[in-house]
Amino acid sequence: MTTTNSGKSWLTPLLTTWRERRAWVLEQQISIARTAAPTGNESERAAMLQQDWHDCGHAVEQDRAGNVITRIRPTSPAAAEGRPLVCLAHLDTVFDADQPLTVRHEGTRVHCPGIGDNGRGLAAMSVLARVLQHPEVRARLQRPIELVLTVGEEGEGNLRGATQWFDDASARGLTPVAAVAIDGPGDCTIVHHAVGSRRWRIAFTGVGGHSWANASTPNPVHAAGACIAAIARLADTSRPFSTVAVTRMHGGELITGVPTQAWIGVDMRSLDPARLRTLSDALERIVKRVVLDESAREPARALHYAITVLGNRPSGQIDDRHPLVLAAASATRAVGRVPQSASASTDANVPLARGIPAIAIGAGGTGSAAHTANEWYDDADSEIGLERAIRLIAALGTAETLSR
Ligand SMILES: [Zn+2]
Repeated sequence: MTTTNSGKSWLTPLLTTWRERRAWVLEQQISIARTAAPTGNESERAAMLQQDWHDCGHAVEQDRAGNVITRIRPTSPAAAEGRPLVCLAHLDTVFDADQPLTVRHEGTRVHCPGIGDNGRGLAAMSVLARVLQHPEVRARLQRPIELVLTVGEEGEGNLRGATQWFDDASARGLTPVAAVAIDGPGDCTIVHHAVGSRRWRIAFTGVGGHSWANASTPNPVHAAGACIAAIARLADTSRPFSTVAVTRMHGGELITGVPTQAWIGVDMRSLDPARLRTLSDALERIVKRVVLDESAREPARALHYAITVLGNRPSGQIDDRHPLVLAAASATRAVGRVPQSASASTDANVPLARGIPAIAIGAGGTGSAAHTANEWYDDADSEIGLERAIRLIAALGTAETLSR
């Protein structure tokens, strides 16, 4: 990758501006976090950020999934025809619509569900929209940059927004040169391994009965329990490269009755798509065997089962010598941090699974307890990670080539 034309000198005044505007960035982050955006119901937050981009002079559109998109065009007509760089940040949070989004300050810490994941990434997109619009930047761009705020990244959203964007791009014959997902706080990690996952709901049903008079009736809760025990053994053998966990369980009706139903939720993850398939097959075998065993107690009243796939996220990776990873590492060093490879499940899974180079990075500050109501974000030194993101996107946008 050639990044020599992204030299410090022209970018320095912009970086200084955003170092000085960190209070504005935090304010933006807080107002984002206070606008509810449950997966599947992101429209209020989407409208707010669409307005923000519109106010700073961008043409903004929403696709049919609900993603908010703007395209930064280079001044040079030749560059404007090039393959785009795409930068994504997810709009949605794991919280329900009725989750209180109250903000509590404690020094540089801000407590609020979703404040870091992905309030921070979205605030960085507000900054990038302003930085990239600058004539100094547009004159140097070697390719268009698409900024995309995605819906449906979390949980059962299954990366719906990112998938839609890449589907539409490929329908237009467009293959982005690279993709960068901006997700949460952080200033040193570079996610270039995408953890794939499958999530299942396994339901057992039977006719039920009296716990004394119908004691031999096949019992869905017993089947669920046997299934959990077998999955726990599968979990032990699947590490370190894969994980399997029973994450939910529910069943039964009366303390005095053989139940009519039980179900469990299973979450499995791996970097290796083949391993995910093997584990999925093993899971199905376990369920079938357990149902047969339990039903053998009274075959005329056999149990039924239903396996539903709730989540399916693709996996993929690029190695740490890939030019995109090297560019991110060099932006990290430029702000005085030590780059760290990481694996995660983000919008970057979608391009990585399609062979498009992609990474995910944080947007500055630190945080913890993401995906819980106790999530907090610490703004101390947040300008460092934000500067890293700006440097990286500027470098990728202005590099003459992005190939190996
Ligand atoms: Zn996130």
